[in-house]
Amino acid sequence: TNLRKALDQHQLVLHYQPKLNADGSVTSVEALVRWMSPERGLIPPDSFISYAEESGLIIPLGRWVMLAVLEQILLWRKEGIFLRVAVNVSPRQLIDQNIYTDLKLALDQAGLTDCPIDIELTESCLIENEQQAQTLMEQFQTLGAAVHLDDFGTGYSSLSQLARVPINAIKLDQSFIRGVNHHEVSQSLVRAIVAVAKALNLEVIAEGIETEEEAAFVMANGVDIRQGFLYAKPMPVEELGHWLARHHAITAP
Ligand code: C2E
Ligand code: CA
Ligand code: CA
Repeated sequence: TNLRKALDQHQLVLHYQPKLNADGSVTSVEALVRWMSPERGLIPPDSFISYAEESGLIIPLGRWVMLAVLEQILLWRKEGIFLRVAVNVSPRQLIDQNIYTDLKLALDQAGLTDCPIDIELTESCLIENEQQAQTLMEQFQTLGAAVHLDDFGTGYSSLSQLARVPINAIKLDQSFIRGVNHHEVSQSLVRAIVAVAKALNLEVIAEGIETEEEAAFVMANGVDIRQGFLYAKPMPVEELGHWLARHHAITAP
């Protein structure tokens, strides 16, 4: 009930976390939802996304995220900031074909021929509903969205599945990155996963980078894109503007 109210009363907010290219430039960010509760303050998504999934509210919530992100991208463009934004999509949302048609309609209405939104799906999307997930992934790609496989390595998808499903990038889970410079097993896993990804022409994103040592390791081992608290936490939109300016990271079209 509260979550429904949150949606209706515009209590959800998006924070944005930058992703760094190999040369340190920033051309993309990830949108992460938070609930600004008048009673309880800022509530992180882990405390309400599962309820949203169980109740079906994830469908309107996901639609709101997608449209709010597009609106923000258009505002940025007016300021000369050209960013791609990755949006998290959970398994339950894939059952709803509208997620694709809504985005397509919104892009048309905005007069955009390219899609500046990318999609982050977890491996569980593939396990629960591979056929449906695959169809939707292809539709998003046709629009111009890239599909990223989130939390890679924590689920049960097989390496052969990587070759079968239409994805553009894998996002190495934080658990591989945490202290990777101290753990030989993690190092071997990262190297092996990067090698497979490269062979399949997939980009590799490392998330959860907190230390210079972790960053140095992933950079030396072929990771294309870096994200983590070392560079920036997820931030409200105004703060992101300051961060981009400080890092001279304002990107050209
Ligand atoms: P995720 O997609 O794996 O997002 C990464 C989480 O790790 C984020 O937590 C982020 O703040 C955190 N993080 C980023 N860098 C670091 C780091 O260096 N160290 C550590 N310790 N953590 C880091 P957050 O924002 O609380 O989001 C949690 C999860 O909630 C997300 O995990 C995602 O699965 C889900 N989520 C967030 N927004 C949405 C949304 O709009 N829709 C859906 N369906 N799920 C969402
Ligand atoms: Ca994500
Ligand atoms: Ca993740």
